[in-house]
Amino acid sequence: MRITGSTELYAVLGNPVRHSMSPILQNSWIQAHGFNALYVALPVEPENFETALQGLAASDVCGLNITTPFKERAAAAALQQSDRVRLVGAANCLTLDRAGRGYDANNTDGDGLVADLDSRAAHWRSLEGHIVVLGAGGAARSILAALSAHSDKGICVINRDQARAQKIADQLNPQQIRVGTWQDLSQHLANASLVINATSQGLNNHSPFSPDFSPTHPDAIIYDTIYSPRMTAYLESAKSYKRRYLDGLGMLAGQGALAFQHWFGVLPNLQDGLNTLEKALTA
Ligand code: NDP
Repeated sequence: MRITGSTELYAVLGNPVRHSMSPILQNSWIQAHGFNALYVALPVEPENFETALQGLAASDVCGLNITTPFKERAAAAALQQSDRVRLVGAANCLTLDRAGRGYDANNTDGDGLVADLDSRAAHWRSLEGHIVVLGAGGAARSILAALSAHSDKGICVINRDQARAQKIADQLNPQQIRVGTWQDLSQHLANASLVINATSQGLNNHSPFSPDFSPTHPDAIIYDTIYSPRMTAYLESAKSYKRRYLDGLGMLAGQGALAFQHWFGVLPNLQDGLNTLEKALTA
């Protein structure tokens, strides 16, 4: 990679962010496409987030990924919000608006998961049975919006805070999305074709959980949005019930590919991105 005076800068902002795999992912695609650009990770203290955004826009930083805990604040600070950001209330992808000297906000998390499903388990669309989404936080809301846009399957959303789940169901499509309870999980799993963990249970091995997946359809796909660790207790359980299972590394690649497309106008190769991430994890 040759850095020159005209190299364009992209970054991921978060706290913490030094562990982020986005620089490895995005720089591999930048290199593959021969763009004169560089992508770095920038830690920001919570009290400085909006000031940092203003400074980055003033310095012509072309695009940003936003990770925890700033996705809601990124949406609020944007010059323009996409429809998805307005629905979800969170943004993970900002694109510089040079005229306005600020950023336009998008949310590619949910579409990234759908792109990953289409790439690693394309038959998800033709499987019989409804979808269960666990969680109603930022990632879950983006996933629900994307699933509702891409599929007319029934969806059951389960969250500790039921009001949060009801709100997104009502906003999206109350005919398609119903709200369930954790107590009745096994009933909600009956004959499900796709079960997605979009809670933070199991992240970095905190509060791991292992649902009994036996009620799901035998061909069901069990998806965990978590990729650290890659093999969660949730996925171990799916494996023990002989269900097809997928970790969140593909969603990371998928949301990144769609962010790349926003910035550079071209969709990079998802499988190459996933291979890069897998290689980095085993290095
Ligand atoms: P939020 O903080 O916005 O939401 C957290 C969600 O987890 C809420 O639904 C919350 O429920 C639920 N939750 C937390 N602890 C528990 C618990 N002990 N029992 C039951 N439910 C619990 O986080 P995000 O939506 O941003 O992230 C959620 C997950 O998605 C994380 O694990 C994150 O790593 C993953 N993710 C993966 C991405 C990828 O690219 N692979 C991208 C983005 C996120 P409640 O509302 O009741 O508090």
